[in-house]
Amino acid sequence: MALQTQTFDALVVGGGGAGLRASLQLAQSGLKVAVLSKVFPTRSHTVAAQGGIAAALGNVADDKWLWHMYDTIKGSDYLGDQDAIEFMCKNAAAAIYELEHFGMPFDRLENGKIFQRPFGGMTQNFGESAISRTCAVADRTGHAMLHTLYQRNIQSNTQFFVEWLALDLLKDADGDVLGVLALEIETGEVHCIRAKATMLATGGAGRIFKASTNAFINTGDGLGMAARANIPLQDMEFWQFHPTGVLNAGVLITEGVRGEGGYLVNSEGERFMERYAPHAKDLASRDVVSRATATEIKEGRGVGKNKDAVFLKLDHLGEALINDKLPGIREIAKTFANVDPVYDPIPIVPTAHYMMGGIPTNLQGQVVVPDGNGGQSVVNGLYAVGECACVSVHGANRLGSNSLLDLVVFGRAAGDKMVEEVRKDNAHKPLPVDAFDKTLARLNRLDTQTQGESVKDVGTALRETMQTHCGVFRFPDLLQEGVGKIDQVAERAKNTVIKDKSQVFNTARVEALELDNLVEVALATMHAAEARTESRGAHAREDFSERDDKNWLTHSLYYREGNRLAYKPVRLKPQTVESFVPKARVY
Ligand SMILES: Cc1cc2nc3c(=O)[nH]c(=O)nc-3n(C[C@H](O)[C@H](O)[C@H](O)COP(=O)(O)OP(=O)(O)OC[C@H]3O[C@@H](n4cnc5c(N)ncnc54)[C@H](O)[C@@H]3O)c2cc1C
Repeated sequence: MALQTQTFDALVVGGGGAGLRASLQLAQSGLKVAVLSKVFPTRSHTVAAQGGIAAALGNVADDKWLWHMYDTIKGSDYLGDQDAIEFMCKNAAAAIYELEHFGMPFDRLENGKIFQRPFGGMTQNFGESAISRTCAVADRTGHAMLHTLYQRNIQSNTQFFVEWLALDLLKDADGDVLGVLALEIETGEVHCIRAKATMLATGGAGRIFKASTNAFINTGDGLGMAARANIPLQDMEFWQFHPTGVLNAGVLITEGVRGEGGYLVNSEGERFMERYAPHAKDLASRDVVSRATATEIKEGRGVGKNKDAVFLKLDHLGEALINDKLPGIREIAKTFANVDPVYDPIPIVPTAHYMMGGIPTNLQGQVVVPDGNGGQSVVNGLYAVGECACVSVHGANRLGSNSLLDLVVFGRAAGDKMVEEVRKDNAHKPLPVDAFDKTLARLNRLDTQTQGESVKDVGTALRETMQTHCGVFRFPDLLQEGVGKIDQVAERAKNTVIKDKSQVFNTARVEALELDNLVEVALATMHAAEARTESRGAHAREDFSERDDKNWLTHSLYYREGNRLAYKPVRLKPQTVESFVPKARVY
């Protein structure tokens, strides 16, 4: 079938922080670059990032990138690859100054330097004391960063395709990636977009859970596209639950609140984190605080009518500080919790927040797969950066404010690598004759099928299954049942029906296609979680409560075909410094 075709040197799917940092690198080098985004780029989830972006600038107290590296490795529960973490922390300061020079309006200290606040798990001198390392623009850091990057891209003539939904990767018989098929949402037309280098920067997939801080658009599309192209997904059992989501709404209250001095209390008015993390208290890493909170609720010390939350107290900080450093939080608390935090505590619960796993890449953002000889090989033409990728700097648990950093450091590195590769080769490889078949069959089914289940019902079953069976704590019977249930959900998703068959702005079709991607992410998560018989970072099993480095200091790889799992070693060797040897993780 002949489709409208557009041809570019490089294509970036996703206009969030990761995609826009990469596209800027490409556009500035003079390449013809397209950015595809299913929403207007500045509506990407990066815009919602509140608390900040980490870098050892040392503006408040003496700091070193090596300490940041240590904190990140410890935070990852030793599952993060140490060469990748080294690369990120070493390049962090330069990335911040670059953003500053792009015009990002960071908050300032009295002396004019960039403001920094304490964040969970960020310490001085290898865990000795908490440190202010997180650079911020009040509690709207992602907003400032995304708009800065967007404006720079406009200046550099990046070509945007707004409200275009990428459907599938285009591949040839060698497995090389040649672009994507995409749906122009406004017209309903399908286009072929060819590129010598294609990047997935499609963000997270928190919408596999019922209670999530993530935007509705975070449906894991890039992961679905990769899985359907036989690319494995890495470390998908590791999902971060943020300790402070607004009860019943899921909206995030940034860790920056605790960074500024807020703390958690239970129904007895006790500051309970002192018991769980005597040293770091409320600024222990997120998995630790979420488990503590869930335990308080489980043991009957929750607050509210149903005793299903705890309080985040910040009234002692005073109105002036709250208005200056946490204005967005005051608004959110008033709107979604009906409390003014200047006077009253906010009821909060642990809420699904961040996907540590993703599409496996090397330090240049090239997608990698096992080569069959114990090593890994690059998928030609395919890159991944940001939350959809797993490089892996966050391991089993991400430290707050390390994601925005991951976006810009690896976005830039991958952009550079794409420029280098595109310049090597001038020709676009030919497309195989059947390149579009599977995707068009998927669309055709939705256009013609008249009986079946509603997308909403199947989506609800998916989210409820993940929430109940794969949450903050993981129980053997629930996991086992969860695998069966999620496999069933996947079968049901093949038989969905949309009543509205129209072409123009058909959001029902978009939601059905997004469900296909949620299914891939949920399957990967549940199968990998059931198989990992240890507790590490965010993956906390009731039946295997200890970390097991002997058997499980290893990355999981989930293959869609047959729900197969494989494993590959963690890279414990940094490039320029000594390894940090795994040890017990206490805060
Ligand atoms: C509420 C909240 C607060 C946070 N606060 C912080 C913080 O303070 N500090 C920090 O470090 N991290 C924070 N995080 C995490 C961090 O913001 C995210 O991990 C990060 O912004 C993700 O960036 P990204 O570029 O990978 O993806 P996103 O910003 O999510 O962008 C994804 C892009 O992909 C596009 N896309 C997706 N699918 C398709 C498709 N099929 N076709 C076309 N386009 C597609 C979307 O349109 C969008 O442009 C926060 C997260 C949340 C949810």
